[in-house]
Formats: sequence, C-alpha cells, structure tokens
Amino acid sequence: MKDYDVLVVGGGILGLASAYYVKHLNPKLSVAILEKEADVGQGNTARSVGGYRQGIFTSRVNQVLAETSIQAFREMEETGEARLNMKEIGYLILMSRLRFSKVAGVVEEFIKTGKALLISREQLSDCFGLKTSFEDDEEAALMELEDISSGLFAPRCGVLDVDKLVEAFKKRCTSVGVEILTRKRVERLVLEPEKPLGIPSEPRAWQKTRVAGVYLEGEVLRADKLIVAAGSWSAELLDPIGVDCFVKPKKRQLFAVIASNELKNLLESRWDGGRLLPMMFFPNGLYVAPRHDEKSFWVSLTDDVGRAFGHDYEAEPRFYYENVHPVLKKYIPAFADARPYNMWAGCYSMNNLDGNPLVFKFLNCVVATGGSGSGVMKSDAVGRIAEAVLFDKQYAVLHGDVKFDVSIIGVENRRVDKEYFIL
Ligand SMILES: Cc1cc2nc3c(=O)[nH]c(=O)nc-3n(C[C@H](O)[C@H](O)[C@H](O)COP(=O)(O)OP(=O)(O)OC[C@H]3O[C@@H](n4cnc5c(N)ncnc54)[C@H](O)[C@@H]3O)c2cc1C
Repeated sequence: MKDYDVLVVGGGILGLASAYYVKHLNPKLSVAILEKEADVGQGNTARSVGGYRQGIFTSRVNQVLAETSIQAFREMEETGEARLNMKEIGYLILMSRLRFSKVAGVVEEFIKTGKALLISREQLSDCFGLKTSFEDDEEAALMELEDISSGLFAPRCGVLDVDKLVEAFKKRCTSVGVEILTRKRVERLVLEPEKPLGIPSEPRAWQKTRVAGVYLEGEVLRADKLIVAAGSWSAELLDPIGVDCFVKPKKRQLFAVIASNELKNLLESRWDGGRLLPMMFFPNGLYVAPRHDEKSFWVSLTDDVGRAFGHDYEAEPRFYYENVHPVLKKYIPAFADARPYNMWAGCYSMNNLDGNPLVFKFLNCVVATGGSGSGVMKSDAVGRIAEAVLFDKQYAVLHGDVKFDVSIIGVENRRVDKEYFIL
C-alpha cells in the first residue's frame, strides 16, 4: 500500500521545481512535498540574495542550467504569470591578477560571445569610486589585499525577488495538484526489501532493497518513488542509510547597510549612459549587492578554510567588524562609517569538488542538491532534470527545448568543469 506515487522531501526552490515538473509531466501521479517549516521556501532559499547570472560561470553545465532557468523566469514575467521583480543591473566581477589567471580562458570567451566586457581600472574608480591599487597603503599590504587590474562586466545578470519566485512555483504546484504538507519533518528514510520475506531484521544485506517511504511523526508514509531535495540538510537523511550526497552545509552571512550620505550617492549613481550600480564581486570573497528599491546595500564575505561545515544560522556582528568591514572600506571608501542595521546567516549546500549541482538516483530515490550559492538561478533546470532522472530518462528537456543529458550532473558518469565563480 502506498500513500503517494512520489514524495518530495524538502520544499525549497529545488523541491518545489522538482515536484512541479514531476506532476506537470505525469499528471496521473499523486505527488506530495514534505516540508519541516511552516511554509515552503523558508530554508536557505529565503536567505538568498536572489542574484542571477546569465552564463557567467566557468562550468559549461552551470552556464546551461542558469541560462535556461533565467530565460524561464523571464517568460514567467513576460506572460504575466508572476512578477519576479527581475532587475538587470549586471554583475561586475573585479579581477586581481591571480583571479584573472585562473579564468582567463572563459573570460576571453565571455567577451568574444558578447556575454561580458572588460572595464579598465581607471573606469572602475571613475564610475564606482573603487580603490583599485594599494601601492602606498601599509595597512592594505598587511592585509594582503590584492590590487584590481580590471573588471568583467556582464550586463545580462541581475537580481530577482526570491520570495516571489517561491510563490510562483508554489502556485504552479498547487495548480497541477501537488499536495504541500508543511510542518512535516522527515525523521528518516525507510529501507525495505523489494520482496519482503517476513523474517526478522529485513532488509538483510543480500536482499534487493528500495526506499519504501519516510518516517514522519512515528509513522511510515509510503511512496513508489522519492526525491530528496533537502538542500544542505540532505546528508542528514542520506548519511544514516550510507548514501553520499557530496554536499556539506557552509555558513554564509549577509549584512544590510542603509545607503545614507556618500553611500546614497553611490547607490543612486548612474554609469555608462544611465545604468544602475551593478552587483560587485571583489577578489577576496567580498561582495556588495545594491538594493535599489530598499535604498540599502547587502554585503557579504565568503570565508573558506577556517569556517567549519555545519548548520549555524546565527549572524555574527564580530564577523562584520573584524572581517568584512576592513576589506570593504579599503575597496570602497564610501563604506568607511557603514554599520549594519540587519544581518542574517544561511548555509550553502556546498559541493566542494566542482561547484555544480548534483542530481542522481539510488534505488528508487533521486537526490537533487548542491546549489552551491547559485541554486535559485538554476532551479527551473534542476527541477526538470530531477523529473527525468526519477523516470530513468536519458535526457531532460530544459526551457527553450534544450536537450540535456542528465548523466552529466549525476555521480557515476559525471562530466562537469570546475566552477571557479562561486561568488
Ligand atoms: C547567504 C546566501 C546567499 C545566496 N545567494 C544566492 C544568489 O544570489 N543566487 C542564487 O541563485 N542562489 C543563492 N544562494 C543559494 C541558494 O539559496 C540555494 O542554492 C538554494 O536556495 C537551494 O535550494 P534548495 O531547495 O536546495 O535548499 P533549501 O531552500 O534549503 O530547501 C531545503 C528544504 O528542505 C527542508 N528540509 C530539510 N530537511 C528536512 C526534513 N528532514 N524533512 C522535511 N523538510 C526538510 C528545509 O526546511 C528546506 O525548506 C544563496 C544562499 C545563501 C545561504
């Protein structure tokens, strides 16, 4: 006896997109999402910046996943299905010599294909008030800050309203008949033999096994097939049954600063004949996201070695004052007196090996995770791929009829380039 044909564990953006495509393409199946929070989209999806980059990835796979998904989002807006508040303000990736040397090949390609253009260091200081050279700055030398040699500006990137995207996928799910069950924390996945013999301690090691369902509030909810889309929590469900999802939670923090005085001027400044200030990504992991509507900036710094893996959602004011602000005010002196009025933390579901998402199947269960800091902007494609993998299709059809061999982002025959732009 089954309760559902397909159960999706996790109602983040990847779970929502997966559930939607499963039900949309297989309307006769009963599909439910199980979400531990009071509503969908309240996990790491809600903590995201909502930045999107049209093709600006070093991995070709990430390029395709993001480009097709962003185009799908644009169409949601154009058809009036949803107002995602997509603002094409552009991404400005600031290059030190070291960063440039790692990505020179793709940068050349971005420029050749018209996806991005290079901006000189003189323009960077004229247009955005950036400090690009620390020649006479002893403090900067002590901090080992890298000079900026150029900027890679990608105009077709921007920011969208993540809550609205969640709402849009939630609406899609309910309109096709996906059941959304909230405040349902899956305690564990239930393994059973395919052909139970009724003997103690089944499944035995020699029996063929399947995931029969999930433990929920002391009971088993049964399903034919499952998708685990529990983001950075995926390993908590998969480790106990010996399945590796290759993803770990890595804490990231955001600090919101009001754009007053000099920062107001910076936020309101226009460049290149009227463009808004873009998102800016600095060599040392620092990034600055202008929030034009809210008259503020969101600032973050991605720390790597030294930052433990694990779930931790406490934002640390000290992290801002000791780590973020010293770098921030060097590169953008207008932030000299900036103090955050709000801060929060989230976790990347981090695939440290190659920085691309993972969608793979074991037994009758698909795992869709590994957003690695850019899962929202790839969610439409990942949802379609999860559906294809669940039904053993070789190809998924992404937005715009793009045929995608799903084994590319699986585990066994994985064929992806390393992503160097985990921003
Ligand atoms: C600070 C920060 C900034 C980011 N900025 C961007 C950005 O600019 N652009 C971008 O594209 N991406 C960004 N990301 C990444 C993006 O947020 C993620 O890649 C994406 O949200 C992942 O979606 P998900 O569905 O896999 O995970 P989640 O949104 O975390 O969803 C997983 C869901 O599973 C639920 N769950 C977990 N365990 C269980 C269980 N046992 N039972 C039931 N439910 C369970 C959780 O409650 C959660 O709702 C950012 C992330 C962070 C933390």
